[in-house]
This record gives sequence, C-alpha cells and structure tokens, in this order.
Amino acid sequence: MKIGIAGAGLLGRLLAFELVRAGHRVEVFDPAPDAQARGAAGWTAAGMLSPVAELECADEHVFALGVESLRLWPRLIAALDAPVEMHQRGSLLLAHRGDEGCAMRVLGLLRNAPPDHAPQQLDTQALRELEPTVQGCAHAWLLPLEGQIHCVQAMAALAVSGTARGVRWHWGTRVASATAGCLRIEQDVHRFDWVFDARGIGARPQLPVRGVRGEILWLHAPGLSLHRPLRLLHPRHRVYLVPREGHHVVVGASEIESEDRSPVSLRSTVELLAAAHSVIPELAEARIVHTETNLRPALPDNLPCVTQADGLTRINGLFRHGWLIAPALVAQALARLHAVPRSQPA
Ligand SMILES: Cc1cc2nc3c(=O)[nH]c(=O)nc-3n(C[C@H](O)[C@H](O)[C@H](O)COP(=O)(O)OP(=O)(O)OC[C@H]3O[C@@H](n4cnc5c(N)ncnc54)[C@H](O)[C@@H]3O)c2cc1C
Repeated sequence: MKIGIAGAGLLGRLLAFELVRAGHRVEVFDPAPDAQARGAAGWTAAGMLSPVAELECADEHVFALGVESLRLWPRLIAALDAPVEMHQRGSLLLAHRGDEGCAMRVLGLLRNAPPDHAPQQLDTQALRELEPTVQGCAHAWLLPLEGQIHCVQAMAALAVSGTARGVRWHWGTRVASATAGCLRIEQDVHRFDWVFDARGIGARPQLPVRGVRGEILWLHAPGLSLHRPLRLLHPRHRVYLVPREGHHVVVGASEIESEDRSPVSLRSTVELLAAAHSVIPELAEARIVHTETNLRPALPDNLPCVTQADGLTRINGLFRHGWLIAPALVAQALARLHAVPRSQPA
C-alpha cells in the first residue's frame, strides 16, 4: 500500500520503519526542519521502560502493552542500522525514612502486577550489592523485569534505518488535517491508500489532546557506577535517575499542566537535583551538561487511544508511556491494517 504518516516523532518513526519493512511505500510529513531537529517529545524522554512502576498512573492495558513492548524492543533494535543502548536489569524504587506513607501508597497501586513482576523488598545489604552508590535510603524495592532505552539513539536510528529501506521524509511540512486516505498540506490534498495520524499534540482540533510539560537534566558523572534506573518515592515529587552510556545520568522529570516549552525552571532544577543528590551523594560533583523541556501528548483520561477506520489510523495520548508501549501499539495497529480485506477501499 501507499501509506502517508503525519508526524515523525516516536510513533511516526516506528510506524514508518515497520511499514516499510512490511513492504509498503511510506511517506512521512513533519514540520521539523530535518531528522535531527528535536521537537518531538520522543527525543526528550528518559526512556524508562517501567510497566510496573507506571501502574501508579496507568492501567492494566498500559501494563500489558509495556510488557509486550519489552519483549519487542530487542528484536526491533537488532533490525536497526545503528546501535541503540537498551538494558533490562530491573529498576529500583527508593524511599527515605519518614516517607513510608507515600511509599506504601505507591506500592499499593502496584499490587495488581503479576507475581514475577511484583516489587521485591531489599534490605540494606542487598541494596548495597546491587547499587553501591545509593545511600541514605531507608527503604528499597527491586522491580526485576523493568528496562530502559536510549531515546536519542533510537530516534536517530529509526530515521536512518527507515531512509535506508526507502521511507520518504517530508521535513518542514505541517499536516493541516488527516482524514481517511488523505493528508491536507496547505491547499493541497495528498492521497494514500492508508493514513496514520501520529502528530502528538499537533493532532488538535481533531483530537482533544493537550501537552503536559516535562523537564529533564542530563548529568555527566565519570566514575559513578549506576546500573539501573532509580525512582524516589517522595510525597511531593516524582523523581527518577536513568544511567546512560558515556557516564551520563538523566534526572527527570517534572509533570506540569502547561504547554510552556520555555527552558527548565529554577524550581524544577532545585527539586529534581536535590532529590537526586539525596539518593546518590556522589553526584555532588557531577556536571549539568544538558537540560531539556518538552510536552507529553495526553488525552483527557491520560490513557493511549488507537482508532482505526477505513483508510485512517489515529494513535495518540501516549503521555508518560510512549517508549514503554509504542512497539506493542504499532504491532497491533499493523496487524489490524493487514487484516483489512483487499477488496475494501483501503
Ligand atoms: C520529559 C519527558 C520524559 C519522558 N520520559 C518517558 C519515559 O521515561 N518512558 C516513556 O515510555 N515515555 C516517556 N516520555 C513520553 C514519550 O516521550 C511520549 O509518550 C512519546 O514521545 C509520544 O510519542 P508521539 O510520537 O505520540 O509524540 P511525539 O514524540 O511528540 O511526536 C509527535 C510528532 O508529530 C509532529 N507534528 C506535530 N504537529 C504536526 C503536524 N501538524 N503535521 C505533521 N507532524 C506534526 C511533531 O513535530 C513530532 O515530530 C517522556 C516525555 C517527556 C516530555
């Protein structure tokens, strides 16, 4: 089929790569000036692949998509033409003395996880063996099956690998509307056998999507040994630390009901970094090498939504969970697409 995709963020790139691999002719349209321009939320994400920890603010469907995506990511990465860092070494939930109430509330929300995913409480010795640099946390739990992905590498690798297989990218091109088999760009209507709308917050007014501001900071901490993502269970802040190759640690993320894309605020910097330092005092001499703000695309219920009609698939509302669930969502959308009988007007 001749396929048009509106949006070259995380979803658009993944769709393009999978569709071209399946033998379709694929064109992608995005207002970004080129493949490296970092407008999409996908670039900014910390890349936590945390189906269990995210049960705090997601449902069992997101959990199931996350577990399935954790299975799909390694295969996808193996098919890409450039390396992408991904690990599945579990993640840690941490709480300071005095924050037990908050920790118990969060753990209560995770109780629906199946036994092999359930949080495992660690004593001081077990925590020290897993992550010697973590100090000052009275309580720790291991989520054994969680993972992480290097989002910047993955965004770049998906574009390069799509191009190598024949995806045509139309950069600097805003799609005004996506309807069955049609993308409208300024006054022109471009016709396709099937259209995917993956414009994130750009899908308004066709979807009631909003942007939720998120801020992150990258630290450079040579010599620091951190093997897996950490999450501090704190009554005021959701703070996590994600180690990345090159001695980097991504500290994130604020979650603010605002579409302000301006630089990271002093308040977020102080809160996120104070929390990070409280967990790993050795970070004191780390250097802040990069800060970034972006908008998570969210629907009113903060849950993902896929709608599929003849000639049109819309996927949106990935909110905090894009990297966690995109491979499974895309696989499901493609399975439905390929199940459409050839005689239909697709
Ligand atoms: C600070 C932060 C931390 C995060 N951390 C995590 C994490 O640890 N784990 C996780 O799973 N998720 C995380 N996320 C969420 C994840 O990044 C998003 O869920 C994901 O990027 C959504 O993918 P998307 O393709 O729908 O949107 P995007 O990646 O935002 O892409 C949308 C694309 O559509 C394009 N577009 C917009 N308007 C138009 C138009 N009119 N025409 C054509 N194209 C258009 C945009 O230019 C963009 O390229 C985080 C997000 C943020 C901001």
